[in-house]
Amino acid sequence: MSRVLIVGAGLTGSLCACLLRRELQNKVHIVVWDKAKGSGGRMSTSRPPDSSSHSADLGAQYITATAAYAQSHHSVYSELMAAGVLQPLDGLVEGLRQRDGSTDYMTPLGMSSVVKHFLSESGADLFFERHVTGLYRRGASWEVQRKAGDSEMFDAVVLTMPVPQILQLQGDVGHMLSVEQKQQLDGVVYSSRFALALFFPPDVVFSFPWAARYVTNNRSICYIAADSRKRNADGPGRGPSLVVHTSVPFGVEHLEKDKEDVQPIILQELHKLLPDLPQPISIKCQKWRYSQVLTSVPDCPGHMTIHDRPLLVCGGDSFVHSNFDGCVESALSVLSVLKASL
Ligand SMILES: Cc1cc2nc3c(=O)[nH]c(=O)nc-3n(C[C@H](O)[C@H](O)[C@H](O)COP(=O)(O)OP(=O)(O)OC[C@H]3O[C@@H](n4cnc5c(N)ncnc54)[C@H](O)[C@@H]3O)c2cc1C
Repeated sequence: MSRVLIVGAGLTGSLCACLLRRELQNKVHIVVWDKAKGSGGRMSTSRPPDSSSHSADLGAQYITATAAYAQSHHSVYSELMAAGVLQPLDGLVEGLRQRDGSTDYMTPLGMSSVVKHFLSESGADLFFERHVTGLYRRGASWEVQRKAGDSEMFDAVVLTMPVPQILQLQGDVGHMLSVEQKQQLDGVVYSSRFALALFFPPDVVFSFPWAARYVTNNRSICYIAADSRKRNADGPGRGPSLVVHTSVPFGVEHLEKDKEDVQPIILQELHKLLPDLPQPISIKCQKWRYSQVLTSVPDCPGHMTIHDRPLLVCGGDSFVHSNFDGCVESALSVLSVLKASL
């Protein structure tokens, strides 16, 4: 039985694990490692430390299926709809550009429920707080080193983190890249932004009508969501939540500052936009250094094979584009390489 390590419990990694299990059943032992404390990656759903009745999506907000992707990824969409993980987005989103034939979906339990669905289907051994720092080729296997100092051997490794984080790995990855591959990976560009989640007491009702709003003509804030309303999750005993995304220029300007120092600046800007906002009971700030791909890997749809035997392959939104369907496309493409190799 081949031991396959998938690095990253985001959408690409979790779907890869799920599809691999369905294709190769018990011919593979699938292990997923993530450096974070939970699953989701940039599809993260956050809770305040002392409340289980609040949640907010700090990264991805909703899923837009174009007519073409609704058809080509039909099985993925219908599985998530049937499981109740996805539902049509019916709240008002001010400033949302509607594209012909596209459908928007929200996740009643938060965006991380998409990732959790695929992880649970995969039956993979899932480990959090496992931060990969290096990969070393040892004959027909990969020795994968962790920040904690120890290492483990695998027959194949799939890397699904953003490309700049792949390029930071120690060991043999750097030597194995061809000049052309290195150039392709070096050319990947991500935007950066901050996200703020505000959690309110259960009796708070927002005075504005929208579930989300794209903010124009503001230097700092580009998007605000009444997150729980967006997910139809407001209700008795459940406190509402609000999510704020900063603009990319703001993200670039403040990128090297501590998020604790940036949070008050965002709050000040928010109060100018929503002066009647009640006092939150809890606030969480997130810095997305690698938010969305601005320039993806050229001529490399879905994946890049760094080494054939033992297999080392990279996937993720850097290899397609930064949204749900980009990750699905990448996971399908990584799967085809794994199937051919194992
Ligand atoms: C603010 C924001 C808004 C967005 N809005 C939308 C939206 O509305 N709709 C949409 O479809 N998409 C949206 N996106 C994009 C979408 O979230 C991403 O395209 C998608 O989540 C990428 O998934 P992934 O699995 O490829 O990567 P990630 O989600 O980044 O997963 C990679 C995982 O690898 C882990 N990792 C990294 N390095 C290591 C290491 N060395 N060792 C172990 N683990 C490691 C990380 O912790 C992470 O969990 C948004 C993203 C952001 C940040």
